[in-house]
Formats: sequence, C-alpha cells, structure tokens
Amino acid sequence: MSVFHLKYRPQNLAELDLSDVAESIGKIMSNKERPQAYLFAGPKGSGKTSAARIVAKMVNCEKSKGKDPCNQCSA
Ligand SMILES: [Zn+2]
Repeated sequence: MSVFHLKYRPQNLAELDLSDVAESIGKIMSNKERPQAYLFAGPKGSGKTSAARIVAKMVNCEKSKGKDPCNQCSA
C-alpha cells in the first residue's frame, strides 16, 4: 500500500527544501527563452516530483510573470 501520493508537496519554489534547486529553477524560469524539456535526476525522495510539479505549474500558469506560480489559475 502506498500513501506517497498523498504526502504534502510544496506549492512554490520557496517551499522547496532544495534551495539550490529552487534557485536554478528560478533562474531558468525568469529567462525569456524557456527550455523545451526538463530533466530531473536524483535519488528517491529527493524532491524530483515536487520540483517537477512546481515547474509544470510555472510553465502552464496564465498569470505568473515572475518565478512562482499563482496557485490560482486552472493550471
Ligand atoms: Zn497561475
């Protein structure tokens, strides 16, 4: 039985435990030209999925102009 999908996930970069990762993502996201693909690598539980979910929200966010997703739009 797995309850991992139920665990709390950070909702923006500031809540991400990995500050160096958050910084890197912030730099990428504040760039005008965003990459076409993102690769997350690391051991299990290191925050790949959490980081990817935040990145996905940022990429798809309709309102966010800065680093963080607005957490309000449909994305
Ligand atoms: Zn949004």
